[in-house]
Amino acid sequence: QRLTGGDWDENDEINKRIVDLVDADNIRKEHKELTAKPHLAGTDRDDYLAEMIQKRFKAAGFDTSDLVPYDVLLSFPDPSNPNLITLEDAAGTVIFTSKYKEVPLEKDDADPDFIHAFNAYAPAGDVQTDIGTGLVYVNYGREEDFEKLAELGVSVTGAILIARYGKIFRGNKLLHAQQRGAKGLIIFSDPMDVALNGTAPEDVYPNSWWLPGSGMQRGTTFMGDGDPLTPGWPSTEHAYRLKEEEADLPTIPCQPIGYDDAKVILEKMGGRVAPEGWRGGLKNVAYNLGPELIGDYKLRLVTHNYIKRQRSFNVISTVKGSVEPDRYVLIGNHRDAWGYGASDPSSGTAQLIETARVVGVLLGQGWRPRRTLVFCSWGAEEYGLIGSTEWVEEHLTKLQQRAVVYINADTCTRGTMFELKGSPLTWQAITRLTKLMPAVKQEGSLYREWMEYHEYWNRTEPKISTLGSGSDYAPFAFYAGIPSLMMTFTTDKRKYDVFFPYYHTGYETFYMLDKIVDPGFRITQGCSRIVGLALRYFADSHLLPFHLPQLPLTMKESLEGVKKDYHETLLSIYPKFSLLEEAVDDLTDAAQLFDATLKERVKDMDPVTLRAVNDQVMKIEQLFLLPAGLPGRPESRHAVFAPSQFNNYAAAGFPGLLDLLYKIDTLQGQERADREEAIKKHISQLTILMHAAAKFLKDLH
Ligand code: GLU
Ligand code: CA
Ligand code: ZN
Ligand code: ZN
Repeated sequence: QRLTGGDWDENDEINKRIVDLVDADNIRKEHKELTAKPHLAGTDRDDYLAEMIQKRFKAAGFDTSDLVPYDVLLSFPDPSNPNLITLEDAAGTVIFTSKYKEVPLEKDDADPDFIHAFNAYAPAGDVQTDIGTGLVYVNYGREEDFEKLAELGVSVTGAILIARYGKIFRGNKLLHAQQRGAKGLIIFSDPMDVALNGTAPEDVYPNSWWLPGSGMQRGTTFMGDGDPLTPGWPSTEHAYRLKEEEADLPTIPCQPIGYDDAKVILEKMGGRVAPEGWRGGLKNVAYNLGPELIGDYKLRLVTHNYIKRQRSFNVISTVKGSVEPDRYVLIGNHRDAWGYGASDPSSGTAQLIETARVVGVLLGQGWRPRRTLVFCSWGAEEYGLIGSTEWVEEHLTKLQQRAVVYINADTCTRGTMFELKGSPLTWQAITRLTKLMPAVKQEGSLYREWMEYHEYWNRTEPKISTLGSGSDYAPFAFYAGIPSLMMTFTTDKRKYDVFFPYYHTGYETFYMLDKIVDPGFRITQGCSRIVGLALRYFADSHLLPFHLPQLPLTMKESLEGVKKDYHETLLSIYPKFSLLEEAVDDLTDAAQLFDATLKERVKDMDPVTLRAVNDQVMKIEQLFLLPAGLPGRPESRHAVFAPSQFNNYAAAGFPGLLDLLYKIDTLQGQERADREEAIKKHISQLTILMHAAAKFLKDLH
């Protein structure tokens, strides 16, 4: 039966076909090819995959499919001179040398080209402790961990630090260490975060998803977004570039290790015993804070990382919309991986390719979306969201005028539980779609499965949150103000509260997904179904399916959160703080009126008015952009929803306020006075933005 265009309807044939057409075997086949070899950004294999993806989009009948290159600054370890951590005894004999590669445990993970363990952009360096002292354990390297150490009188200045991975973005750990004058940082994966059932071979990969002792998490330590040499402008061919020494890169060496090596080092540490909650899962290890090294050992950290400009491709493909070709519904995922990238990013890339195939089948059956679909395969995300950021920087105005929504498809399959994070405008629409497709682990709808999970915590509806950073939605959401979202299947927190353990290691293999995490590829199939449904919902609905009232509602909740910690302080600095709250209420009223009027009028709305109201909603978040960005963070311009300053992965509501209020009580004199002025100015600015957004919703409806 031929499909015809028309408004989106919950029960229409196209939704049904999307769900039916998404094929788990196809996904498995694509995934196997994508993960067959390591495909680090800018390598031949990465370029090969870019061309392969371009071919898939063309085969699906897309109207355009282009390779878009940028020359960008990347970072590498020296393949012939591995980064090493050594321990020397008092006689100068090296008694321990750390591993720089995982031990191959299965034929899938034995590729000789797999990159050695390193942390991107951490510089080359050679630092050492004194004999018998100079190494400090800093728990997760969070702001509060360093505060605790200061309280205990343990100095980190001039020391080499050792932190466990987890809880926050590794770039923040290194920054925290650097800010306090440490001379190097070692980050290890602790069994408490990556091997919860024990560390014996039968308990870990290839027998479970838990990480073996030589598993090392690679990853960037760059705190900005995009090419470090072109902050704020695209790395096009003739673009001006900063000098390498002007780029805002880390200045002290940093190296990841596995828990087998960490054990050897931690065992040698003396000094004070670790505070409550700082002890990890290594057996017979005290987790002492240091700085003493028992037995007069000396630790040395030597890194040979170098930076280099290299070409990296995005693949950008479009299906032209039939009625509103200049309105874009975008979906994207990065392609580059630290290794095989089975979960991150290839589970997402496999679903992206499958979704494109399904779109192609529908096109063949007569369907054409009302708005243009844009499929993006980003390059060099792992280094700092580089491909996506450069592209957003290059097309900023066009995207701000025409982009409806950006859907990020990174790392869909990393667990079993559905999770949505995104702009509050999109929450209702996605929730609705989860009712139109099957669950991935049981009978019934995905909505049912999702709900049951949240009922465990006595919630009457699924918990949805706004975005932190850490993947390619960031330039869309925080720089351009485009409503963005991401959907994943993540760890079942009823069982354990951890990030997926094999992340960025040599064991993130096809075998891991195929045999352990997603046998039959039912979960990844679920990803493709939900993004397929979402693309279609946003592309075909005459009235965009954004739920406007949710935006001020979430803002209000965020403001309550800030007040909980800082109300007194705020009132003492800015007695008329309630003006900001009133402004949020003003926006709430405007949004509700807008929504109610629309519901009434949409049936007989003329096309020009319809287009105008759609534009009002899809652009509303742009009203919250601060042109210069948040203080010290030019890439984060959203004044209400942005990543946290202390953990790039976490979301913050009213980030500017939180940043300015942080530790304000420790300031005195002129510093305190300046900070108070900045707070007054910022609250006033927020108040103006809220009222402006409320006014933006007037007139056209
Ligand atoms: N997704 C990458 C990571 O977590 C990059 C994140 C970023 O640079 O913001 O390491
Ligand atoms: Ca740039
Ligand atoms: Zn990723
Ligand atoms: Zn990653």
